[in-house]
Amino acid sequence: MVLHHPDGQVFTFDAGALSLELSSTSGGEGFRARFELLHEPADYPRWAARGRLDLPGRGIDPAEVITTAADLAEVKLLREALWVSALRATEGRRPDPADLAVINEIAAGNGPVPMIDPHTNTATWRRPVTAHQLTVAYARDAVDTFTEPAIGRIRMCAADNCALIYLDTSRPGNRRWCSMQRCGNRSKVRGHRNRVEKS
Ligand SMILES: [Zn+2]
Repeated sequence: MVLHHPDGQVFTFDAGALSLELSSTSGGEGFRARFELLHEPADYPRWAARGRLDLPGRGIDPAEVITTAADLAEVKLLREALWVSALRATEGRRPDPADLAVINEIAAGNGPVPMIDPHTNTATWRRPVTAHQLTVAYARDAVDTFTEPAIGRIRMCAADNCALIYLDTSRPGNRRWCSMQRCGNRSKVRGHRNRVEKS
């Protein structure tokens, strides 16, 4: 997903998992409020279409996704449960039972219904598509991401001033940065400067 930082930088970030994409890239409470992208209901499918759910690839226009104020409240509730759980995971801790209750309750809802489009013979979802279905998809991903073995691979970017959390899907499990374009590169520049100053 392409992120636009308030400082002006545009960079690519792969959260590694659907549920972490929601908690890391759509804003949130506290210091994450300055990154908020979900201001009104229509913002939610528009944001989701940019990411791993791949609505465009399924031929689904975000404008056709039925989204109410209650859906927006629901996805934000899930987002906070995921954020707190992700932070705990980076410290080697399991999710709090209250957050698990939120995740499990939403995961039990009606998710997207896959189908083959009879006109194009490509994979799509049965219409009408609702925002609640999207939220169920995020919660169901969390069931895979916040359990063993994936939970041990949830990491925060190693840069001091960056709180982007991702699932490390690299084979050796040594991904350190949110993005080479952003924090990886700044670290390389810093390392170079240190070497130059010492020589
Ligand atoms: Zn970073």
